[in-house]
Amino acid sequence: MIFKSINPFSQEVIAEHEVLTNSQLNQKLQLSESAFKIWKNTSFQERADKMRKLANILRENKEKLGLLITNEMGKIISESIAEVEKSAANCDFYSEHAAEMLKDEYYDTSFKSMSVYDPMGAVFAIMPWNYPFWQVLRYAAPAIMAGNVTLLKHAPNVIGCAKAIESVFLEAGFPEGVFQEISIDIPQVESVIASNIVCGITLTGSEMAGSSVASLAGKHIKKSVMELGGSDAFIVLNDADLEKAATVATQSRMLNAGQACICAKRFIVTEKVADEFVALFTQKVQLLQQGNPLQNGIQMGPLARLDLAEKLEGQLAKSLQQGAKLLVGGERENCNFQPTLIDFVDSNNVAFQEETFGPLATIIRAKDANDAVAIANNHRYGLAAAIWTEDRENAYQLAREIEAGNVFVNSLVRSDSRIPFGGIKKSGYGRELGAIGIKEFMNMKSLVIE
Ligand code: NDP
Repeated sequence: MIFKSINPFSQEVIAEHEVLTNSQLNQKLQLSESAFKIWKNTSFQERADKMRKLANILRENKEKLGLLITNEMGKIISESIAEVEKSAANCDFYSEHAAEMLKDEYYDTSFKSMSVYDPMGAVFAIMPWNYPFWQVLRYAAPAIMAGNVTLLKHAPNVIGCAKAIESVFLEAGFPEGVFQEISIDIPQVESVIASNIVCGITLTGSEMAGSSVASLAGKHIKKSVMELGGSDAFIVLNDADLEKAATVATQSRMLNAGQACICAKRFIVTEKVADEFVALFTQKVQLLQQGNPLQNGIQMGPLARLDLAEKLEGQLAKSLQQGAKLLVGGERENCNFQPTLIDFVDSNNVAFQEETFGPLATIIRAKDANDAVAIANNHRYGLAAAIWTEDRENAYQLAREIEAGNVFVNSLVRSDSRIPFGGIKKSGYGRELGAIGIKEFMNMKSLVIE
């Protein structure tokens, strides 16, 4: 069996990758086990030196690696290069802070008592194609700095990126087996989860993939972190800076051609300012230049795969049948989906209820701030949300009422190495990034000495 990398803009097959046989997979698992025995005993200093070197190699090769990302999944080249830079910065962050984050914690008892953090083995990661470097380095840098090793099953359309990341780890001097890419098919996933060397599973992807993998993790009693879909609310209140809100709304929905879990998807605007906000938002969306992701000045490329573009087209058609009004866009040619805005969407509409993974913005009109929060919370997902208002005190209260793992006020929702990131409800569980992210796959061992 082979996986094909198809350039989504040109539709050319750019590479073919063989899927591992079960015996090749077993060899990789064994290598993981032997690598862990060595890696867990290395010092933080040694790990940090290699992780910094890795960050430098990423930066030195950002153009080449960026090109690989764009060719495999279609995002514009400037966003691809920025993704490589952000991944490198995450490696620097954990190389600098891992030792401090994992230091022993002492308790106030009459005897000596503490918690120590021990690495546990291999973290098995199942990752998506939308940020093929960032999603990987986001979990791998902390996991490896903590003394764990890792096995990566990447999405089949970005196996070239997966292999490039493995090469960078080797070039930075990490021993073989610390980071391994495994090109495997879904039926092989359970054998990896079941393997004794695997201590935990981290998955970023759809709710369906998360549900399936989380049940296997439960069956084999392995801890898991699930970073799943979202339908993030972008709430615009009466006193918002509408010009700025519309600029960030465009960015937040159309970045990466709308293919991010934390893209704003539901724009919930209070009635009083809705017409004005919608006019500004429409203007800005109309100005977006869509085309060849390698060309200068292009702001949006194609979607990553034809089936994803077709799915979005189906969601849009159904949504319009259900009463939404098309304001701009709506056409598709192969993987290129025009940036699209629809208005007068209600909570029964498919564009409200389902995750729309592409450049489709949905406008919902709310009576007031409380109604806007109620609409935002009326959803199966709870990844992130944004609130736009000049009343920062009220924003704090409203933010506390929002059912989401992350709330940003007057700002683009984005991930940041320093700040924990993750969702609630069907958006998943567990946290990545920050100090909590590095502790997810550790044995927090209580140690008492009398
Ligand atoms: P998937 O969730 O299907 O894929 C993400 C990763 O999970 C891939 O490596 C995929 O491998 C793997 N996977 C899928 N099903 C299983 C399974 N049963 N067991 C083990 N691994 C599995 O996303 P798609 O690429 O199909 O995109 C479809 C939708 O997923 C999007 O429309 C979007 O809603 C959502 N999505 C959300 C993301 C996020 O960041 N939250 C990222 C990407 C997608 P394989 O491809 O081999 O099945």
